[in-house]
Amino acid sequence: MSDPGTSDDGTFELYDLKVEVVAPPGAKIYCGARPGDHFELHGEMLRLPPGQGFSIYSLATLLPLLPAKQRPLDPHDWMATDMEVACPDPNCPTRFRITRTGLRRFRRADVTAVRAAGCRDPEAPR
Ligand SMILES: [Zn+2]
Repeated sequence: MSDPGTSDDGTFELYDLKVEVVAPPGAKIYCGARPGDHFELHGEMLRLPPGQGFSIYSLATLLPLLPAKQRPLDPHDWMATDMEVACPDPNCPTRFRITRTGLRRFRRADVTAVRAAGCRDPEAPR
């Protein structure tokens, strides 16, 4: 998978993410998760499978990390390699495994009204 890049056409790429619950077999889980529970993140949209929930405390732990995981990172940056996040309940053995599942291209004009500095705006009148 190549690093996301920018282009001159007013678009950019972000990694799609999957966050999956993992836990030792038979372990007592306190956050309401089941191993294999997951969600996907496509741009800013978080998608849960129908009927599946996700702890707000677990989600709060993950939220600061997810936008960084969507973007290219220096290979020496710990965030580029550390893929598991611990459950915020210190007595709960669950981990949340973050994987990049693909690249998705977005049009800047679809996600912000702010113009990019130094970039040609393909939406701008000529
Ligand atoms: Zn947990």
